[in-house]
Amino acid sequence: MATYDVIVIGSGPGGYVAAIRCAQLGLKTACVEGRETLGGTCLNVGCIPSKALLHATHQLHEAEHNFAAMGLKGKAPTVDWKQMLTYKDETIATNTKGVEFLFKKNKIDWLKGWGSIPEAGKVKVGDETYETKNIIVASGSVPSSLPGVEIDEKVVVSSTGALELGKIPKKMVVIGAGVIGLEMGSVYSRLGAEVEVIEFLDKITPTMDGEVSKQFQKLLTKQGLKFTLGAAVQSVEAMKTKAKVSYKLRKDDSEHTVDADVVLVATGRKPYTDGIGLADLGVEMSDKGQIKTDGQWKTSVDGIYAIGDAIDGPMLAHKAEDEGMAAAEVIAGKHGHVNYGVIPSVVYTHPEVSSVGKTEEQLKDEGVSYKVGKFSFMGNGRAKANFAADGFVKILADKETDRVLGAHIIGPMAGDLIHEICVAMEFGAAAEDIALTCHAHPTYSEAVREAALACGDGAIHM
Ligand code: FAD
Repeated sequence: MATYDVIVIGSGPGGYVAAIRCAQLGLKTACVEGRETLGGTCLNVGCIPSKALLHATHQLHEAEHNFAAMGLKGKAPTVDWKQMLTYKDETIATNTKGVEFLFKKNKIDWLKGWGSIPEAGKVKVGDETYETKNIIVASGSVPSSLPGVEIDEKVVVSSTGALELGKIPKKMVVIGAGVIGLEMGSVYSRLGAEVEVIEFLDKITPTMDGEVSKQFQKLLTKQGLKFTLGAAVQSVEAMKTKAKVSYKLRKDDSEHTVDADVVLVATGRKPYTDGIGLADLGVEMSDKGQIKTDGQWKTSVDGIYAIGDAIDGPMLAHKAEDEGMAAAEVIAGKHGHVNYGVIPSVVYTHPEVSSVGKTEEQLKDEGVSYKVGKFSFMGNGRAKANFAADGFVKILADKETDRVLGAHIIGPMAGDLIHEICVAMEFGAAAEDIALTCHAHPTYSEAVREAALACGDGAIHM
């Protein structure tokens, strides 16, 4: 029987990163994956394929809306949907093969099949049982639906089905105005579908800074997405090639229906731990179905750790990766650390939206006195040249100490720009530290510096 120092269950960004770090730290490591390919939700049916479709359709949008103004004339491209899906699939394949390569390079055994834990210190895959000193459960999450709404992945789809529709729908209803719903809604809207987003709450991306969320809704509306907010979906009736969504407006209880060719249910995800045998082992779970862990990613059973979407915290690939590295360090007897106060989140629409740290709403609730430094991309030369001047950077800093408490960006490359703030926050920097740092011209980053300047004596270009 093969024996290991660590067996990781699940090869998503949490699991594969944990496995690589364990191997780098000299631990004999295997990773169990039930899917045909490595990389988990993120690489196969999540982050990577959605970004490929967002990229392709953004290029189309640029060609249709901005090329002529730059003197690039000629026929706008037409959409070959099959080819676009092939491009998406090839993008997935290069990434999943990349993880396979990294496993070989780090001498990690890929145990193919679904794993379970018959007892602490043992992992069973198919007919084989392996002994291991430590187990990391990184089994991830799956889409959750609404009560009574059945997903057939053809007419009523989850994000997984939305990544491989047979054809571009004429009308798509998206239930849920969270990150996944808005990203996929944007993709199909750019491809010519009429997209209506139905959301239970009165704002889109509800955990986002309120001002950013409002601006975001305005810009998406300008791009053609329709929003029905404060609406409680009652039922989704699927016919062969159509579906009918019934909802009640919460303000007056009035009942409405809307027909669609495709309904995307984007109401969130739930932890996936089926078949591992955690209940029989006595591993404590939360009432949300998450594996309970302590500050060192240890479960209630010795030698079993858990990370990523299967435990508490934001369901994000980079959060899972950080926990994967940290859990590996703990197992190797080192110090594992994740700063949950500095985990950025990004929506990859156009413009992108990103945030880190506290929102204004949170600071108000906590009674923290703060100041706001805001700068519009209208004052950024590069953004204007690139037809990307919609949006702003907003930095929140402590009123007394000037320490950066959070930042919220809507605008070009917001998903990249946010990391300057993350580093600043990790170092406990003041807004003035960013303001005093020379930023290259002309870059979008200058807008971050200007927002930092606006926390002090004022931005220059506003
Ligand atoms: P997962 O990636 O879910 O991987 C778990 C793996 O474990 C799966 O492959 C599963 O097959 C395997 N597994 C489960 N049980 C067993 C078992 N018993 N035996 C063997 N294998 C098992 N996050 C971002 O940060 N940025 C984004 O842009 C982003 N976009 C997204 C877009 C979409 C459409 C979706 C659906 C998600 C997106 N996410 C994004 C979320 C991100 O995909 C998850 O947060 C991330 O994948 C979680 O990683 P994980 O390692 O915890 O689990």
